[in-house]
Amino acid sequence: MKKFMEFKALASKDIYPFPITSDLEKLGKWIVYLPLIRYATIVDKDVVVELQNAICGRPYGKTPIVEDILSHMEDEKKKIYYTSSDETGLLNMMILPNNKCNFHCSYCYSAYGRSGKEISYDKLSSAIDYFFDISRAANQRLTISVLGGGEPLLSWDLLKRALNHAFELGVKRKTKIPVSLVTNGSLIPENMLEYCKENDISVSVSFDILEDIQREQRGSYELVKDNINRISDYGLDVALNTVITNSNVDRMKEMILHMDNEMPLVKKVSFKSLISNSYFSDMQAREDYYRKFVDHFFEAKDLAQKKGIYLVCPYWNAVICLADRYCPGKFVVTAEGTISICHCVSSEKDLLYDKFIYGRISEGHVDIDREKLQAILAFNQNKFDSCQTCPCRWHCAGGCYTDNCTMSEIEKETYCVSMRYFLEKFLLKYVIQ
Ligand code: SF4
Ligand code: SF4
Ligand code: SF4
Repeated sequence: MKKFMEFKALASKDIYPFPITSDLEKLGKWIVYLPLIRYATIVDKDVVVELQNAICGRPYGKTPIVEDILSHMEDEKKKIYYTSSDETGLLNMMILPNNKCNFHCSYCYSAYGRSGKEISYDKLSSAIDYFFDISRAANQRLTISVLGGGEPLLSWDLLKRALNHAFELGVKRKTKIPVSLVTNGSLIPENMLEYCKENDISVSVSFDILEDIQREQRGSYELVKDNINRISDYGLDVALNTVITNSNVDRMKEMILHMDNEMPLVKKVSFKSLISNSYFSDMQAREDYYRKFVDHFFEAKDLAQKKGIYLVCPYWNAVICLADRYCPGKFVVTAEGTISICHCVSSEKDLLYDKFIYGRISEGHVDIDREKLQAILAFNQNKFDSCQTCPCRWHCAGGCYTDNCTMSEIEKETYCVSMRYFLEKFLLKYVIQ
């Protein structure tokens, strides 16, 4: 992975040139991108070479465009989110209360770990005590996400009790704790709607939107759609999480229209791209899928904007902010009473379990293996040589830790190409005037 090494000197000043590939009329041209000030422009390759000369202190052609780009280096910098390399940087607590589910989705990441376990209240409240301790991450905004592992609402009574405990600790920290809940939408336990409204809990429902796709990949289309409407009719903030597979990658606009017609109060949706190696027959299939995902996403985004729907995807979330590491790392409380760095790995049966678990809850204590945690957090900080010269360096910032532990180098490079392709389309559409 030796991308853009010839312009290493420019990258060292956070100027990232890269060739245009997505627009036939602009083929042969380059984008020069300064992410820290969110400036980009289209130039000929000669200009990139002159810029490099200027940066290296060599004689260069002082054309207006070269001078203009150089002058932008003095512009005010945007905010960069710097991650921490120890436990004080763990700001999001993910609660995976159980490893049981009433669905059998075709792409379930936790299918390996279906042990049927549920965490005890004592262990969960100890984890909450540790996470919200007044002396830990003082003055930081701490949040809770509840998700699976399994279907969290199968453990509703336990969750309510634990959240009440967290809210009490929030009062001691003099802060309100934002909570989000991800569910498969098949259950609405008694009092859930009232409780979520009372405590401002936002709900995300994993739902594949189109009837045939939901039936093929998840099941219970009518039940889940009706529940989504019940939740939004009740006045709760509800979003959809939709997995995009080869079956629906070219139906994104249809999904937005269907959502608008059938769930008119829902105004947020996230399209998740697939990464699992087992899903792609070969590298070409992976490449084709990523490219289609990006192309169709931008078309669907236009339509969503017209319908007042906020559509995002992992690439989008990466390009709209600046960070030194893609994932700050999570404090994931698993059903087994351990602490994992990522919600994708929560059960002893998961292949990466030993690598990802950095803490255990026992006898009212959380024991953190600090050395292991620091090693995990350090691993992903723009770790690849190619990140140093990559235009996505401050967006993708090394990529997802779990992907990096599971993908081969060539698979990773396929992802990197798609990440840059997304950034290119984003800059051409939204940044370059
Ligand atoms: S609802 Fe979630 S946890 Fe349950 S099978 Fe589907 S993806 Fe897996
Ligand atoms: S991991 Fe991200 S930042 Fe690094 S080379 Fe790939 S796309 Fe670029
Ligand atoms: S490691 Fe990847 S999947 Fe896990 S929380 Fe971080 S970004 Fe998400």
